[in-house]
Amino acid sequence: SDHSLTYPTSPADMDWASLYPIYAVKDDEQSKPKLTSHDNDPEEKRTAIKALTKNVEIADIGCGFGGLIFALAPKFPDKLILGLEIRTSVTEYVQEKVRALRVQNAATGAYQNASCIRANTMKFLPNFFQKAQLDKIFLCFPDPHFKQRKHKARIVSYTLNSEYAYVLKPGAVVYTITDVQDLHEWMKGHFEKHPSFERVSKVFEEGEGDNGEGMDECVRLMRGETEEGKKVTRNNGMKYVACFRRLEDPAWP
Ligand code: SAM
Repeated sequence: SDHSLTYPTSPADMDWASLYPIYAVKDDEQSKPKLTSHDNDPEEKRTAIKALTKNVEIADIGCGFGGLIFALAPKFPDKLILGLEIRTSVTEYVQEKVRALRVQNAATGAYQNASCIRANTMKFLPNFFQKAQLDKIFLCFPDPHFKQRKHKARIVSYTLNSEYAYVLKPGAVVYTITDVQDLHEWMKGHFEKHPSFERVSKVFEEGEGDNGEGMDECVRLMRGETEEGKKVTRNNGMKYVACFRRLEDPAWP
């Protein structure tokens, strides 16, 4: 259950610095600390929230045990990567692994750019991310919710796609992968009919020739480095990939 989850009232109210401490703006650089407004607090206690020197640009939605974020972190050392996961124990596992990898790699500073929070991403995604903040969103092996009456729990729908569109930059990409053909068709259908998205090229998704030359490197990572991707490989299962580019919004006449 997600009843105990709390959400920031806006992206500026998130304590990003505790997730990415080395990217926190130092006190002396921060001319005006951002304040969370506890409007109903009688003593007007306000908590100073440290800003970051850069924003999260890559989000892995339903990140599970974090295989993908740990593979992305060294490949995109200049980008902040966030896993969002609804299960408490799984989120704690990922956070613990982040801590351990940061300690092990203290000399190089690797994995400072990866983090994970507990969240139900079907709710309030725009409270975490500003408009046009993200470069990439990953939806890897989302729960299929096979039964018709459970389809509303799927993390792809026309409404949720509008939220993904809001937080993505024009030109940014949503990556989807699943081993369930019915869910693949569902995700494809919902993104294809959404005016903010267009499907990327076949080469981007599959590459060419025996070695998949030209395949986008993140497609390669989500096929091979997610826990579910590894499981499907072990079972010789099919992986269905579909990626969609965020289009520019049309100009107002
Ligand atoms: N992406 C990982 C992978 O490919 O190995 C995990 C896939 S697992 C089948 C689906 C994950 O999504 C689970 O860890 C589940 O707890 C999480 N999840 C499901 N609904 C969610 C939601 N609304 N918000 C955040 N996480 C969610």
